[in-house]
Amino acid sequence: MSARLVLLGPPGAGKGTQAARLAERLGVPAISTGDIFRANIKGGTELGRKAQEYSSRGALVPDEITNAMVRDRLAEPDTAEGFLLDGYPRNVAQVDELATILADAGLTLDLAVEITADPEVVAARLLKRAEIEGREDDTADVIRHRLDVYAEQTAPISDVYAAQGLLVRVDGIGEVDEVTARLLSAIGTAAR
Ligand code: AMP
Repeated sequence: MSARLVLLGPPGAGKGTQAARLAERLGVPAISTGDIFRANIKGGTELGRKAQEYSSRGALVPDEITNAMVRDRLAEPDTAEGFLLDGYPRNVAQVDELATILADAGLTLDLAVEITADPEVVAARLLKRAEIEGREDDTADVIRHRLDVYAEQTAPISDVYAAQGLLVRVDGIGEVDEVTARLLSAIGTAAR
């Protein structure tokens, strides 16, 4: 069975950690648009230079740039049996673009899995991560902006996937192992 999945949820809900674990269990690559942008920023590429203008202030990188990057990544052969997207789509236009990218390859999305978490809890987690990882976009002001962007642009995606019958929601509060088990169970149940 293929596993073409997107992982949704607010910043700080544990998407990155869970994406890596799920990808390993499902045998598909975890593709994080945030990680690809960060690698390009670090490597000083043209893409990185463009992305940094936006990501440093917690804004979304423009769709033209992000969509082209995702289209290229999903053309890589390691996605033949599926993928787990983390951090994409991030707005309703990207939902449509993902559907188009897949349709162009004769494919469809299998499932959108939303990790739910209380905004207060995720804000606290992000501030803690800021201390540990020193990410440029983990300062208090930028975190607040990223949570606003999430509420305004990203949260509405869930309704779009729900209307398509593709959404499952999983409670993201709890031990990491516990949440992984919940996610695997939700994915397994939905796939049946
Ligand atoms: P993340 O690691 O997923 O929190 O992403 C870090 C930053 O990368 C975001 O705050 C955005 O600036 C940018 N980014 C990541 N994914 C996307 C996306 N799908 N669309 C636009 N910008 C994105």
